[in-house]
Amino acid sequence: MRPIGILGGTFDPVHFGHLRPALEVCEQLGMDHVRLIPSKIPVHRSQPLASLEQRVEWLQQVAAEVPQFVVDLREVERDTPSWMVVTLESLVTSFSQRPLCLILGMDAFLQVESWHRWDELLSLAHIVVTHRPGFERPQQGRVAELLAARESNQVTDLYQLPQQQGGRILLLPVTQLEISATVIREMVAQGEDPRFLLPDTIRASVINQYPLEE
Ligand code: ATP
Repeated sequence: MRPIGILGGTFDPVHFGHLRPALEVCEQLGMDHVRLIPSKIPVHRSQPLASLEQRVEWLQQVAAEVPQFVVDLREVERDTPSWMVVTLESLVTSFSQRPLCLILGMDAFLQVESWHRWDELLSLAHIVVTHRPGFERPQQGRVAELLAARESNQVTDLYQLPQQQGGRILLLPVTQLEISATVIREMVAQGEDPRFLLPDTIRASVINQYPLEE
């Protein structure tokens, strides 16, 4: 059974730093597809600037052109905070036969111990950590210990059902793109063009969305 990738985020806005690594993970691990899951009520950060409807629309416009991507609205449709552990429980119910792989950039992985019920994540899914410029693998602390206990170098490990084995963690090199939504928002607010940092299909809408600073 080919695994399904899960990429959660605020996507405020979605950019090539999300899309290119997600596509590379999908191809390198032979995944069936990657589900892009916009968070409704982010729990680890400040509220997004763009509306939920707008962030979803951008994702849908982008995914419409890429067969490997599916926009998944389960966090949008539920009223509880966007805890990933709850999202994974729901995904296990929907896709009980398939291994699930939670895709996290290294920055997000380093913060994972602050997540709600973080110690349960690996009983629901594997974690694929993609390199992100500026962030190194953890050397000490609880996340480093988790990595030492669960790291795998075998892509084939991810094809075993996590419910049977307990999830594994795979660190995967991907093309390094030093792009963040924060920088794109700041650029637009200063009147700069974010062209070639995100898909052209959403560029005009993104420029309209983040007001010019006075
Ligand atoms: P912001 O700048 O608003 O904090 P962001 O660009 O970091 O946003 P998020 O939506 O918070 O984007 O990130 C969702 C996921 O995508 C996280 O797992 C994050 O690590 C990953 N990610 C975002 N940008 C990159 C990038 N340039 N390279 C690799 N992973 C990335």
